[in-house]
Amino acid sequence: MSNVKPNILLIYTGGTIGMVKDIKTGALHAFNFKNLLKQIPELKLIDCKIEAMSFENPIDSSNMKPEYWIQIANSIELHYNEFDGFVVLHGSDTMSYTASALSFMLENLSKPVIFTGAQLPIGDLRTDAKENLITSIQIASLQNEKREPIIKEVGLYFEYKLYRANRTTKINAENFQAFNSLNYPYLAESGVHLKINHQYLLKTKPNQPLIVHKKLDNNIALLKLFPGFAASHLNSVLKTPNLKAVLLETYGSGNCTTEKWFLNALKKAIANGIQIINVTQCVGGGVNMGQYETSSHLKSIGVISGKDMTTESAITKLMYLLGKSYLEKSLKHEFEIALRGEIT
Ligand code: ASP
Repeated sequence: MSNVKPNILLIYTGGTIGMVKDIKTGALHAFNFKNLLKQIPELKLIDCKIEAMSFENPIDSSNMKPEYWIQIANSIELHYNEFDGFVVLHGSDTMSYTASALSFMLENLSKPVIFTGAQLPIGDLRTDAKENLITSIQIASLQNEKREPIIKEVGLYFEYKLYRANRTTKINAENFQAFNSLNYPYLAESGVHLKINHQYLLKTKPNQPLIVHKKLDNNIALLKLFPGFAASHLNSVLKTPNLKAVLLETYGSGNCTTEKWFLNALKKAIANGIQIINVTQCVGGGVNMGQYETSSHLKSIGVISGKDMTTESAITKLMYLLGKSYLEKSLKHEFEIALRGEIT
């Protein structure tokens, strides 16, 4: 057997992992990526070749936007044939959004794209950055005996677990376990051994060329319901110029108020061509319109079900589907089926 080492491309976008403290203000800001690699001499011990590239001006991920998602997708597309796997270093705050977006943008992905970051900067004595980065690289370089990648999807690795990226949500601003995936089991766990749950990995169609979708339409709105939600709030959102779709974050299994003003406003919006999508505020479980009276009216007026998708996944899937110039079936149909394993 040949002992060609896997080639891994690291893409640094910013985030705590590579940040330093401003001596004057005490605030964390992104710093030069080359210093990041200097901080981890252990990287040389991993049995793969690593090359790195960085955003020209690394960002805190709170400044993330679709333009940057396209930049990441472009880097992967440009280097797709040269590398066996990709590791994207990203701030944890919006990592689930970016990673979900990339899962939709990269159709027929047959190599690993692993997102990771850290809760503490790499230079901090108690940092979680080293483990997250080293194991992500190891996961991205996993291959079978035919030298084919084992993971062929967008993953998110944090605190000893690899998740399907579009199933994750940031659940904690303090703990090292910052992410969770309540509706889908983790894909791998790092302990003494790296345990891969092969049965949960995304099965892709073989020999399909990578298609990178770069048109994303952000003419959408996200509305989280709460008791006392005012009609004026809903109406002002529905009057947004060029609005194409609204994601409603409803209660429990997709329930909402049955008050007339609310339903009439939604009905009118649907009649005007605005898509209304129902996702749940709960981090686990999903929408089941019709289970309660408080959701059956939504079903009857043509609201689309987000099923058990995360809000991050639903938002990015919507931008991706609205950006497509051609849909084989209706947006409702495409939205309600799993395109990248984002729905159970
Ligand atoms: N604010 C930082 C960011 O998202 C937090 C982190 O990196 O974990 O970029």
